[in-house]
Amino acid sequence: MMASSKSNQSSNSRLQDMNSDTNDDENGELCPGFKDVDAFVKYGLGAVLSATKASAALPQAGDEYDFYRSFPGFQEFCESQGDKLLHCMSQIMQHHGCRSHMRDRNKLTGQEERFDLVVDSNDVILERVGILLDEADGVNRSQQPVMPAGFQPPKIVVSSWNRKGTGSGSRSEMFRLLHAKNVTRPQLKFKEKVDNSNTPFIPKIFIKPNATKPLPSYFTNKQIRKERPEDLDVPAALADFIHQQRTQEHVEDMFAHPYQYELDHLTIPESFLCKPVAQMYKPMDETRCSFIDTLEDLVALNEKLCKLSEFAVDLEHHSYRSFLGLTSLMQISTREEDFIIDTLELRSEIYILNEAFTDPAIVKVFHGSDSDIEWLQRDFGLYVVNLFDTHQASRALNLARHSLDHLLKHFCNVDSDKRYQLADWRIRPLPDEMLKYARTDTHYLLYIFDCVRAQLLDFNHGQPGLLQSVWNKSKDISLKKYMKPIYTEESYLELQRKQKRSFNTQQLTAFRLLFAWRDKLARQEDESTGYVLPTHMMIKISEELPKEPQGIIACCNPVPPLVRQQVNELHLLVQQAREMPLLKAEIAAQKKKGLTPIKKPEVLLFGPHDTSRVSESDLHPFSPDELPVKQGMLFSDDEHKMDVDVQKTSGLVATAKITLFEELETQNDQEPLPVPQMKARRIIESFENPFRMYLPSSNVRVNKNAKFDPSSKIFEISKRWKLQSIEQQQKELEAKRKAKEEAKEHIKKVAEERTKAKQSYQESLQNVATVRQQAAESEKGGGKKRERVVSEVGESTPKPSKKLMKSAEKPQKTEPPPQDSFKPFDYSQSDLKVFAGNKAKDNTQFDPNRQTHGFKKKRGARGQKSNIGAAGRSMSYLAGKSDS
Ligand code: AMP
Ligand code: MN
Ligand code: ZN
Repeated sequence: MMASSKSNQSSNSRLQDMNSDTNDDENGELCPGFKDVDAFVKYGLGAVLSATKASAALPQAGDEYDFYRSFPGFQEFCESQGDKLLHCMSQIMQHHGCRSHMRDRNKLTGQEERFDLVVDSNDVILERVGILLDEADGVNRSQQPVMPAGFQPPKIVVSSWNRKGTGSGSRSEMFRLLHAKNVTRPQLKFKEKVDNSNTPFIPKIFIKPNATKPLPSYFTNKQIRKERPEDLDVPAALADFIHQQRTQEHVEDMFAHPYQYELDHLTIPESFLCKPVAQMYKPMDETRCSFIDTLEDLVALNEKLCKLSEFAVDLEHHSYRSFLGLTSLMQISTREEDFIIDTLELRSEIYILNEAFTDPAIVKVFHGSDSDIEWLQRDFGLYVVNLFDTHQASRALNLARHSLDHLLKHFCNVDSDKRYQLADWRIRPLPDEMLKYARTDTHYLLYIFDCVRAQLLDFNHGQPGLLQSVWNKSKDISLKKYMKPIYTEESYLELQRKQKRSFNTQQLTAFRLLFAWRDKLARQEDESTGYVLPTHMMIKISEELPKEPQGIIACCNPVPPLVRQQVNELHLLVQQAREMPLLKAEIAAQKKKGLTPIKKPEVLLFGPHDTSRVSESDLHPFSPDELPVKQGMLFSDDEHKMDVDVQKTSGLVATAKITLFEELETQNDQEPLPVPQMKARRIIESFENPFRMYLPSSNVRVNKNAKFDPSSKIFEISKRWKLQSIEQQQKELEAKRKAKEEAKEHIKKVAEERTKAKQSYQESLQNVATVRQQAAESEKGGGKKRERVVSEVGESTPKPSKKLMKSAEKPQKTEPPPQDSFKPFDYSQSDLKVFAGNKAKDNTQFDPNRQTHGFKKKRGARGQKSNIGAAGRSMSYLAGKSDS
C-alpha cells in the first residue's frame, strides 16, 4: 500500500515537474529506466503484486509459522529480512517526513507502535496523493462554470494528467480525468423513489418469467398491498416490513431468492459441456453498436436476446453520489452486435429482460459477476439463471491473473485499459471514449467464453469435471442475494475493527456518534457515506476531538459540503464525546503517546508495575522518601499492621512479577489480544519452546488438523521427532512438568501472601468512602486493567460496549483460593497520589482537584502544543504530523 502510494505520488510529482518545465523533454524519459507513466506504473504494480503474492505465500501465523520459527536458520532469515523491510519502510517514512523511529523497543508494545506508525504514515502519504490528485484535477476548479445537464467532458487541459502529448502519440497521452462535478442527480428522474430506509431488502420482482415454481402471492399482490393503512407516508420496504411484523406472513417468501428453486434444478445443456469450436469475434469497428434508452428499443432487444443461446453482459456502476449505488449502464454483446443500455433512463423497465436473463436455455456470460448479480437485483429486480463467469474460469485454469484485461490480452491480444472503470458513469451523453470502453468489456467475452471452455476440457483431459465446477461456481454467484446495509448500534464497531485503530473512551464515543450522524445523513440525502464524511476524516476528528468547530474543519481536506453545512451539529457531537470519563489506562496511554489527556488528569494514574505501557522517560523519578511503601499508603496506613516483607514490596518488584504470572494463568478468560500483540506473543512463545506444540497445554496454537494431516510438514516432522528419542522426550516433559508445578506452588504462595496483605489493607480502608466506591466499581470491571478515573466519579458514565460488558461479566479463572476468595491485586484501591510525588503525608483523603506541580507544568506545555497543532492543521498538516 505504502509502496504503491509512493510510486503514485512520485510519478505524479514527476509529471508536474515535467509540466512546469516543458522544454525539458529531449530524452523523453519520465525517470531513468521508464519512458512514461504507464511503464512506471506497470513496473510499480508488478512489484507490489509480486510482493503481495510472496507475503501471502509465507507460512501462516498460528500453524506452520510457529513451527518453522523453531529452526534457527528460518529465524535468522526472517530476522534479517524483517530488519531490511523495517529499514526500507522507515526510509520511505523519512522521505515523506513522517515519524519513523521506534521509541518502544518492547517486543509486544513495540509491534503495536510500529503498526500505528505505518498506519499514520500511510495516512500522510495518501493525504498527499489526494492533494496532488486534486491539484491535477484542476487547481482552479472553483472557477469552472457549473455544467448544465448535458454535460460534456472537459476539453481544457488543466494539468499534467490531462496533458496532450507532444508528439510520440502513445496511449498514455490521453489520460483524462472524466470526473464530473456537476452532473444532475439521476435519482431525481427515477419513477420509483430510492428506498434508503434502515430495513432489509425485499426483492423488487413482481412477474416471474421462466418459472417452474410460481412467484409467491406476496410479490404478485403489490396493488392490493398498496391499500394497507400502514402504507401511508412510509417507504414501500418499511411498509412491507411493518406489515410483515404485524401479520407474521410471508416471512420466508419475502427474503428468499425468487429463482432459488429454478437454480437448484438447473442443468446445463449438454451442448455447453462439450468442446466448442471457438467462434472468432467480429472486429469492433465492423460491429453495430446500439445505444438503448427507450422502452421500445429495450423490448426489441429482449426479443432478440430470447432467440439466442448465449450473450455477454457487463454493468457500470456509480457509488459516490448515492447511498446504495446506482447501476448506470448495461452492456450486452451478442456474436453479432453490441448494445449499451442506459439503465438510469430505463431503470423501471429493465425488469423485462428477465425473460432472457432467467431463461435456462440461454447462457449469460459475465466476467467477475459477484457485484453485478447484486446490482441487478437491487436496481431492477433482475435475476440470472444459467450464468457463466469467465473470472471463475480463469481461476479454475490457474491463469497468471484473473482480470478482464488479462484475459483480453491473453486470448484476443487486445490491449485494454481500465482507466475509465472508475469514471463517473452517470454523465450523459456518454463521451465516445467511455462508450468504447464500455463496449470492450463485453465485445470479446463470448469468444473468451469459447476459449476457456475448450481449455477447461483440455486441462482435464476431455473430462467435463473442471468445466462443470465453473458452471457450479457461477450458479452459486447467481444465487447471491442483495443485502442492504443495515445500521445497528454495533455497526460502528465493525468499521472501527477494520480500521485497526485503538480509541479511548472519548474517541470511541465520538466515532460512534459521527458514524450514526453520517449514516443518517447519507440515507436522508441519498449520498454515499464516503461523500458525507470519508472514514479517514471521521477517524481524524475522533482522534483529535477538536475543541472548536474550526478544528473539525481543519481535520478535513477537502471539507465535505455536508460537514461544512452541519459543522455545528458535529461540534456538539464531539463535545458530547469529550464529556465522557476517560479510563485510567487510557490516560496513561495518551501520556505515552505524548498527548495531553483532554480531561483534567489529577493524578498520575499508572502504577509502577505497568511499565509495559509507559516509557521510562515518562515515569516520575521517585526520591527515596517518596517510595510508596515508606509512605505507608499502599497497603496500610498503620505501619505496625504491615506483616508484609518491606523488602519484597518496596518498588513493587515482587507484585509486578505476580501480575505477569497471573496474566498467563487467566489469559484464557480475557478478551483476545489485538492481532499484532497476539502474533508477537506467539512468536515469543515459540521462541521459548519450539516443541511446545507437543506439550499438553491448552495454549497450543497448532492447527490440530495439520498434525494429523499426512501431507502437512508438521505431521511429517512430528513423526520423525517422535521416533528420534521418545525417552529423551519424556525426560524433558517430566522436567517441564516439575518446573511447572514448582512455579504453580510459588504462585500460590505469593498469592497467599498477597491476599493477606490485601486483606489488611482493605480493613484499613473500611472508612474511606470514595476509595471504597471505586474499588467496588473496578471489581465490577473484573480482571481487565481498565479502571475508571477517580476524579470523574459523578459524571455520566460511558456507554459500555457489549463486548466490554461481556468480558466483565465473565467469571475470573484463578487458582483455587487458598483462603476465602482471592482477587487479583488492584492498584485502583491504593492512594495514587504517592506516585505523583505528592508528599501529602497527613492527608489520607483523596482530593481530585489537587494537582502536582510537576505534572501541571507538563500538561500546560503539551496542551498548548496540541492546540497549535489543531489550529494550524489546515496550513501545516504534514509538518504538524512529522516528529523529526
Ligand atoms: P467492471 O466490471 O470492471 O466494468 O466494473 C464495474 C463497476 O465496478 C465499475 O463501473 C465501478 O463502478 C466498479 N468498480 C470496478 N472496479 C473497481 C475498483 N477497483 N474500485 C471501485 N469500484 C470499482
Ligand atoms: Mn463487470
Ligand atoms: Zn465494465
